[in-house]
Amino acid sequence: MPTRFEILRDDALGCTKCKLATLGRSQVVFGTGDPGADLMFIGEGPGAEEDKQGLPFVGRSGQLLDKLMIEEIGITRADCYIANVVKCRPPGNRDPEADEIATCRPYLDEQLELIDPKVVVTLGKFSSQLLLESKIGITKLRGQQYPFRNGVLVPTLHPAYALRGGGEPMAQMRADFIRAKVALGAAGSGS
Ligand code: URA
Repeated sequence: MPTRFEILRDDALGCTKCKLATLGRSQVVFGTGDPGADLMFIGEGPGAEEDKQGLPFVGRSGQLLDKLMIEEIGITRADCYIANVVKCRPPGNRDPEADEIATCRPYLDEQLELIDPKVVVTLGKFSSQLLLESKIGITKLRGQQYPFRNGVLVPTLHPAYALRGGGEPMAQMRADFIRAKVALGAAGSGS
C-alpha cells in the first residue's frame, strides 16, 4: 500500500495543471529527503540542474545549502526535507508567476500537512512571503522566527543571493541556520 505521501508525489509527478508543464520543464521536481523529518527547507523553484536531475537544490545554490546545513546545523539532506514553492522549472530561470504559485500551492500545503515539520526554513522571498502571507521584503523578514502551523518558520535569504552578495548575506544566512537549530532543540529535536 502506498503511503499518502507517495500518492501525493506520484500525483505531482504527472501534473499538467499550469503552463510550466508545457514551457520546457523536463520533469517535476517534487522534493527530497525524509518525509518524517522535523526540519523542512522550502525554496523557490527548480533551476536547470534541478530540472535535469529531478531533485531540488542540486546546483550551486544547493551546494551552499548543503554546506550551511552541515556547518551550522550538523545535518545532511537525508535528515530533513527539501522542497520548492513551484515544482517545475520556470523557463530561463524567470520568477514563478502568481498563477503558477497558486496552482502549485496545494502540493506544498499537503507536503507541509504530511511532513508536519517543527521548523520550516524558507529560502528567499517567494517562499517566505507566501507562507508568512506578507509583502515585507526578505531582508526585513529574516533575522527572527515566526509561529507557523505546529511549529516555527525561520525565513532566510536565498542561497543564490548569498552567493552573489558575499560576506554579509552569508553571515546572515549562517545566523538564520543557527536560529533554526536552536528552534529544533527547543522543539525537542536533534535534527
Ligand atoms: N533554487 C531554488 O529555489 N530551488 C531549487 O531547487 C534550486 C535553486
